[in-house]
Amino acid sequence: MIRRSFLAALAFAVALPGAVMAQAPLKVVATTGMIADAVRQVGGDQVEVKGLMGPGVDPHAYRQTRTDIVAMTRADLVLWHGLYLEAQMEDFFHDLARKQTVVAVADGINKARLRAHDDYADKYDPHVWMSPVLWRDVVLEVQDALTEARPEAADIFAANTQAFLAEIDALAAYGARILTAVPENNRILVTAHDAFGYFGAEYGYDVLGVQGISTQSEAGLNRIGELVGTLVDQQLKAVFVESSVSDRSMRALIEGAAAEGHDVGVGGELYSDAMGEPGTYEGTYIGMLDHNITVIAGALGADVPARGMNGKLSAGF
Ligand SMILES: [Zn+2]
Repeated sequence: MIRRSFLAALAFAVALPGAVMAQAPLKVVATTGMIADAVRQVGGDQVEVKGLMGPGVDPHAYRQTRTDIVAMTRADLVLWHGLYLEAQMEDFFHDLARKQTVVAVADGINKARLRAHDDYADKYDPHVWMSPVLWRDVVLEVQDALTEARPEAADIFAANTQAFLAEIDALAAYGARILTAVPENNRILVTAHDAFGYFGAEYGYDVLGVQGISTQSEAGLNRIGELVGTLVDQQLKAVFVESSVSDRSMRALIEGAAAEGHDVGVGGELYSDAMGEPGTYEGTYIGMLDHNITVIAGALGADVPARGMNGKLSAGF
């Protein structure tokens, strides 16, 4: 008797037309804030996202915590960047992929479009979020992964993706407009580590990092001396600190230039490998890049809108 009514109830539930809507959100875990943001944009209310790396966290050095491991084991889908960005978590993800759905969302980008890695012959520069054009490919990869995990929501994911790509295109156009308003001689970006290669390639800037592509390599005294020489020779006025890297080497540059009688200031703090605080505009992908573009162009001599392309940047950056 009990069994019969259970089956009847089950048949009723299966036949319910609104069954898709009643589903619990997909549980997705993403490593970087930038990937978590893409999942939020594409997934909308179909997903519940946990980003492992918050503001100021360096993905080159990050290792999974116990809480992270529990979250990843319980998730419906785990997304990481790949391209050797999460260098300390590579082995962990290869193991996890045996029992969990795990996707490296930047691995699918055509290798011909990637920059070589300076430390490893067989690897690439992972900082693709710095180019809105390359980040489009990652967003499409996120769309594929979500669609595979929940095919019945494919239309929702497709519509959300198109809306987000339109915002990314507007960001790319803003960047092109405002960064080319900087006088040509000033288009040199000096930062703590080499995170801005794709940015420089897209917008025609020379990019000089004290450290290489990974923050794990040493910042040698020779490199500091070389960059001080460049600052003085080119009469550069500004260098940039990064939110996820110590500013020690940038202070060494400023002091080195001062010792040679040339004044250099900090042009601003850039979001290189991590976004701003959650719940703020700078804590979204669009806000992060809007901030970087506006701060760089403003510090190097262009007229910029005080609050960036959407009028949403925090005052007084
Ligand atoms: Zn980096």
